[in-house]
Amino acid sequence: NQVSAPADIEATLAAIYQAAKDYDGGAVADYIPALAAIDANQYALSVATLDGRCYAFGAHETPFSIQSISKIFGLVMAMERLGDDLWQRVRMEPSGQAFNSIVQLEWEQGIPRNPMINAGAILVSDVLVSHYSTSKSAVLNMVRRLAHNDHICSDEQVYLSELEHGSRNSALAYLMKSFGNIESDVSEALDHYFWQCSLAMTSSDLARSLTFLANGGVDPLSGQQLCSKRDTQRINALLGTSGMYDQSGQFAFEVGLPAKSGVGGGIVAIVPSFGVICAWSPRLNSFGNSSRGMWMVREIASKLGLSVY
Ligand code: GLN
Repeated sequence: NQVSAPADIEATLAAIYQAAKDYDGGAVADYIPALAAIDANQYALSVATLDGRCYAFGAHETPFSIQSISKIFGLVMAMERLGDDLWQRVRMEPSGQAFNSIVQLEWEQGIPRNPMINAGAILVSDVLVSHYSTSKSAVLNMVRRLAHNDHICSDEQVYLSELEHGSRNSALAYLMKSFGNIESDVSEALDHYFWQCSLAMTSSDLARSLTFLANGGVDPLSGQQLCSKRDTQRINALLGTSGMYDQSGQFAFEVGLPAKSGVGGGIVAIVPSFGVICAWSPRLNSFGNSSRGMWMVREIASKLGLSVY
């Protein structure tokens, strides 16, 4: 569709990466010391395309905390295990609230609005804990296989920090438990959630690992079908409506790609039939989305004409 020659793509991305230096508004996430301590000036851009190329700029070899981007991996696995029953326990509507909001959970009887807000991802973590004997290794294996990188790990310091400062997430989990929507021990579901948020990956790892979502569920490098075409479309629909939290509408309006952000400063954007953009820059705007990351993704989508709409 929109694709240009590799040399043109490379030049366009390089220019956007350079220009992004000046777009560094916002503040680093400081709810845990391990994230507050990060060097906020480093940033990276990786674009993995379906032909197996990965265009990479800046700190693309520096692993960062993927945080909420992990919600995608958890969801893929829970959809595979639970099938359509999953949608009895979590909905697919935009929340219109902050990612860690608790109010709707009570109004809606402990059923989270979607799997991309914290309550939804904790619910998904509960599914993984109760359907895998070792849910953490199952996720780790999948992520390593997708990224074609066996060195990916969960960052122990971030994980311990998340556990220690997890009161809000605990409240979400206990509220869901009180409505009977959490099957395992609350502490186990939370433990899995904090652990997967603490996965550390580079921008190139992330871009590569999600190319199957741009390719009808098939990993373009291995040819392996990771999820059905229908589920791939559903995941992209959820990312398009809820992946950028309460800025998802604006993101659809200005960029027009299914995407997911994390408070570690990462943003991934899926470009169907083309590839995956991953931008990383630690300073966040008031919605919890990377400011410079948003700028880069918006520019790329506009210059390369990538909007799906
Ligand atoms: N660990 C963070 C939290 O649970 C993840 C949120 C995010 O990346 N938006 O609050």
